[in-house]
Amino acid sequence: MTAVLQARHLGKRYRRRWALSECTFDVPAGRVVGLVGPNGAGKTTLLSLAGGLLTPTAGTIEVCGGRPGADRAQLARVGFVAQNTPTYARLTVADHLKLGARLSPRWDAGLARQRIQRLGLRSDQQAGSLSGGQRAQLALTVALAKRPELLILDEPVAALDPLARREFLEDLRDATAEQELSVVHSSHLVSDIERVCDHLIVLVASRVRLAGDVRELLATHRVVTAPRLDP
Ligand code: ATP
Repeated sequence: MTAVLQARHLGKRYRRRWALSECTFDVPAGRVVGLVGPNGAGKTTLLSLAGGLLTPTAGTIEVCGGRPGADRAQLARVGFVAQNTPTYARLTVADHLKLGARLSPRWDAGLARQRIQRLGLRSDQQAGSLSGGQRAQLALTVALAKRPELLILDEPVAALDPLARREFLEDLRDATAEQELSVVHSSHLVSDIERVCDHLIVLVASRVRLAGDVRELLATHRVVTAPRLDP
């Protein structure tokens, strides 16, 4: 099976501190992988390396057959949504889609339109007037309409209330099934990951502690990263 992400002895050091070390794993194409770990475990560092926002200090990482962030074609293969992915308050929903279209060679305008309708967003609404959940869904729409090969989600629901969190995760589950996407999705909460992921990677203190089928791992290990927050 081809891998959309291959990490080999991957490490990242900030000054003297290793935020990530000796991480070796694959994300096979079509998998929805959950990345969990306590605060400071290295999740954001790992996903930023995968998105080309950081460069490794040690080892290698390959995404969709190339170096993350190497060029525009490589950037176009990856959709990235983080908790703090900016939406622009004064720009409308339609403006965000236009911006996405301009930056993305494989932009799927039909998909973007269909999602905006299904989510009940108005095209002429300014992003600043959307709820946190709607802004996250707009950011996800832009990422999905890029038609990425790999979707990276860095705690996209961390700041949302339980209802918005659940709506986002249900939408994400449907969207990944429809598009047969490969996804790496980080969360503090195992309960979020259980909802949408088939594979689990547990990072603890900068290293991959466990990796495997999400249900098998949760049945055989006590994976606790934060209190469960089931709505
Ligand atoms: P959280 O769940 O709190 O977001 P995380 O698992 O995403 O944590 P990272 O943000 O990757 O973890 O941080 C890993 C370690 O690296 C932490 O100790 C953090 O303080 C440190 N770190 C992260 N970014 C920097 C930076 N730019 N400079 C120095 N240290 C950093």
